[in-house]
Amino acid sequence: MLDIKWIRNNQERIQTVADQKRIKISVSELMEADDRRRALMQQIEELRQERNQTIQQINTTIYNNNKDTDDLENKKLRMRELNNRLADLEKEHTAVNGRYSNLMLLVPNIVSPETPIGQSDQDNAEIKRVGEPTSFTFKIKDHVQLGGIHRMIDIPRGVKTAGSRNYYLTGAGAALHRAVQQLALDLLTGKGYTQLEVPLMVRKEALYNTGFFPLGEDQTYRIEGENKYLVGTSEVPLVSYYDNEIVDVSEPIRLAAVSTCFRNEVGSAGKDVHGLYRVHQFSKVEQVIICEDSLEASELLFQEITRNAEELLQLLELPYRVMAVCTGDMSQKTYKQLDIETWMPSREAYGETHSSSNLLDFQARRSNIRYRDAEGKTRFCYTLNNTAVASPRILIPLLENHQEEDGSIRIPQALRKYMNGLERLRL
Ligand code: AMP
Repeated sequence: MLDIKWIRNNQERIQTVADQKRIKISVSELMEADDRRRALMQQIEELRQERNQTIQQINTTIYNNNKDTDDLENKKLRMRELNNRLADLEKEHTAVNGRYSNLMLLVPNIVSPETPIGQSDQDNAEIKRVGEPTSFTFKIKDHVQLGGIHRMIDIPRGVKTAGSRNYYLTGAGAALHRAVQQLALDLLTGKGYTQLEVPLMVRKEALYNTGFFPLGEDQTYRIEGENKYLVGTSEVPLVSYYDNEIVDVSEPIRLAAVSTCFRNEVGSAGKDVHGLYRVHQFSKVEQVIICEDSLEASELLFQEITRNAEELLQLLELPYRVMAVCTGDMSQKTYKQLDIETWMPSREAYGETHSSSNLLDFQARRSNIRYRDAEGKTRFCYTLNNTAVASPRILIPLLENHQEEDGSIRIPQALRKYMNGLERLRL
């Protein structure tokens, strides 16, 4: 959420960003609501003051036993008028204030000057490529086939138990899933990130505060009968950890969590239905940084969390590219976003595996997370986040890129210590 004064001075800019991010909001309607609620508040305060004075006058009249009954009756009449008028204005103020608050929740974050303008992921711009798409001299198998022959991935039983977009990982599949997460976590904790075990069922407020609601509400599973939701990412509990607090960011706060993520994936019917690409439940190691409100410092940290993800992919020996995400593919809260896409041989394409975002103070304003600057003044922090690894999606490039002609799968060096030293999955 941006500051209303700032929005007022930058109305055109905000409307343009909202249109580019395809968020339905009229900034002029927001301004009208703000004007109206302010005018109403002023009127209400003036009338409350008059009412207080009138009460005092009535009391004084009664106390002094003043015989001017006409004057007393007029004052009582005025009191009734004031009460009625105030009740009307307060009712209107509550309604206008509600409209104002709802509109404020839709105001998008601004975007960085480097962000490409575009409609969808088709307009994202490649800025870097590392490694070349793997070439094979034999007919390749996709991850579902490889998972089947190695008894690692069982989608039919996942669907039997939990419905579409569900799966079981078994044996080496489950072990690889754990191994990539532990590798990512060790990478982050080795760089000074603090690991947290986080709540996965959170209050609605946490989702509003972190900018996932109201616009992402339909993507989120609600727990029947409770004001709680299953998180789609540990970014929500990680940022909310400091909700309503004044924090010390003399050193940026670096956090990491492994969590299950739950996503409704509403709106993606018929899309990515094969295999493990788009599922309702997956695990993610997430990085979150909370820092001072400096564009330069946050840009360096943005590069740091992006580099961490690249390092992980290099440890997994996978080819990837880095994409500058365009306005139309960005969320409401994001100022700048880079996606990393990893080569997926069966798709003959790069597929998104990581998403790095700088949110400036958007989340911290909503979450009321502040720090004290050198002068002791409280300021809103900046927040950033990126995937370190998300599995099982990462198993797609991992199994497919490292397959061999006889169906074996080579395990990258960095993963072997988490796989009991295993170098290869053999048939
Ligand atoms: P996000 O938190 O939406 O930025 O997603 C971060 C990463 O999580 C993506 O780059 C994917 O690797 C993974 N991911 C997101 N949604 C899904 C899903 N429905 N199924 C599997 N993996 C997902």
